[in-house]
Amino acid sequence: MAEQGALVLFSGGQDSATCLAYALDRFARVETLGFDYGQRHRIELDCRPAARAAIAALKPQWAQRLGDDHLLALDALGQVSDTALTRDTAIAMSEGGLPNTFVPGRNLIFLTFAAALAYRRGLKHIVGGMCETDFSGYPDCRDDTIKAMQVALNLGMEKRFVLDTPLMWIDKADTWALAERLGGPALVDVIIEETHTCYLGERGARHDWGYGCGTCPACQLRAQGFARYRAREERRTG
Ligand code: ZN
Repeated sequence: MAEQGALVLFSGGQDSATCLAYALDRFARVETLGFDYGQRHRIELDCRPAARAAIAALKPQWAQRLGDDHLLALDALGQVSDTALTRDTAIAMSEGGLPNTFVPGRNLIFLTFAAALAYRRGLKHIVGGMCETDFSGYPDCRDDTIKAMQVALNLGMEKRFVLDTPLMWIDKADTWALAERLGGPALVDVIIEETHTCYLGERGARHDWGYGCGTCPACQLRAQGFARYRAREERRTG
């Protein structure tokens, strides 16, 4: 297994784009993985190739490190979820405080398929944008969950995978700042222009933080994070 090989869970959103830059900065060989599970909107998936290419193009070393892209169909996920991501229902918060976009245990399934693919491709590191800080109530994003998955996958596959979650303890403003540290303002611009986060799949309106409806929970999180990031920048640079 290549010590310096990484597989990045790459959905085409802001977080996974930052994770891709993080991996390209660190590992000699980087491949990407996306999942098609009957999302109500395919816009995020459609953003993947252009976002991937634009990020790699920022530095010659990144372009040289970026390898294959993989897209796995996980249709069965749609069959076990009854949420706004896969059905034509409005996004709402359930009584338990979870948005109804929640697919139970989705990251457990994603990480299992990622590890199976990483095994085949000889990649040691699996990089994902799970985050406990902007905790939207997803228990499969918790650091404890990821650590438990690492143990389970390593036992179950007799490997030494490292599940790397660079966004786990930072907020959305820091995620923008991390992108700037990794790839400069050019990477921030690529993320604004090429990635997609909106739950409603809206791409029309261009805000300073990128495209989206501006009102769904995902857009609000992204917009508020961007505003805090810009405010910190302005304080720092006067
Ligand atoms: Zn939105």
